[in-house]
Amino acid sequence: MTVNLLDFDLDRLAVYCEQLGEKRFRATQLFRWIHQKGASDFEQMSDLAKSLRQKLAGVAEVRALPVLAEQASADGTIKWLFDVGNGNAVESVFIPEDDRGTLCVSSQAGCAVGCRFCSTGHQGFSRNLTTGEILAQLWYAEHHLRQRLNLAPGERAITNVVMMGMGEPLQNYSALVPALRVMLDDHGYGLSRRRVTVSTSGVVPMIDRLRQDCPVALAVSLHAPNDTLRDELVPLNRKYPIAELLDACNRYLETAPRDFITFEYCMLDGVNDTEAHARELLALLKGRVACKLNLIPFNPFPSSGLKRSARPQVQAFAKVLMDAGIVTTVRKTRGDDIDAACGQLAGEVQDRTNVQQRLTRQPIRIHATTGSSRQEKRR
Ligand code: SF4
Repeated sequence: MTVNLLDFDLDRLAVYCEQLGEKRFRATQLFRWIHQKGASDFEQMSDLAKSLRQKLAGVAEVRALPVLAEQASADGTIKWLFDVGNGNAVESVFIPEDDRGTLCVSSQAGCAVGCRFCSTGHQGFSRNLTTGEILAQLWYAEHHLRQRLNLAPGERAITNVVMMGMGEPLQNYSALVPALRVMLDDHGYGLSRRRVTVSTSGVVPMIDRLRQDCPVALAVSLHAPNDTLRDELVPLNRKYPIAELLDACNRYLETAPRDFITFEYCMLDGVNDTEAHARELLALLKGRVACKLNLIPFNPFPSSGLKRSARPQVQAFAKVLMDAGIVTTVRKTRGDDIDAACGQLAGEVQDRTNVQQRLTRQPIRIHATTGSSRQEKRR
């Protein structure tokens, strides 16, 4: 099998080039051709020594992911379905705004966390993506969009990346970190740390590792103001409860490129969206973690059994937090006519975890707002 050059950050590419008897600056040239210019044919790489081009031919390639489908929303959002083999496919979403272009990238085929409100979570888990498969989504989107949008040389289509597509990125850590490094590398995509966001459901030990290895902006899927409810909505909470998660967030802030953590909160009608929940959330976060709240209107899908909170409910919830000084935004729903909005990405997953049957068997239990917390139950 040929080596996929998309699997390498610049240091790894330099090692690979050394093995071929080439100096580091050759690796930098090659890296720039791939990521800055979107080249995949070595013959195109005109300033690379002919000898290196010949060495690479036949042993290495820039392995793009086949595009199975593309859908464009009326609001300009574009969703791609990429084939990652063996019946698995992952989705990426481009969200254009006036001042930025954001790409939402997948990290796994499926997801093992199984959040109740998430379409990916209902599909189960097949496998981790490789670094090359994570980067192939960005590589394709950036270079395809430059042509499609007719951008001037040097102009970028994608200014922000959010690791919020299919999968829990921190459960695919070893592939994630080199991919982030390529996004940040000035010879790669040159994105600032503030413009690359990893979103996690709360894998505490890996939040600590990311803090040391490659601190980028952090978003945490919170979705509940207490452990009892969060255990139901985000099953990973049973392993890493809220108190441990908030401590990890505070440690992360020591090296984070932004001075706040973004907490994502999916608004589920009658489940986590009352003003009492908002007050409980306020009591949990105020003075504990520097944060912003991002309220996400739930995007219903058939097997979820959940409903979107009514707009006045969302506004009342946000008001409780904002009146107390916590910056709270309500996420604009983008691309919901093509199932590209938050929590709707489904791709195609050959589930190896039976999560689908498990979630279908267990109807969600709705708890009283401040009822017995799990810690109380343990005592
Ligand atoms: S919300 Fe994220 S962590 Fe939870 S199931 Fe969906 S993809 Fe996985």
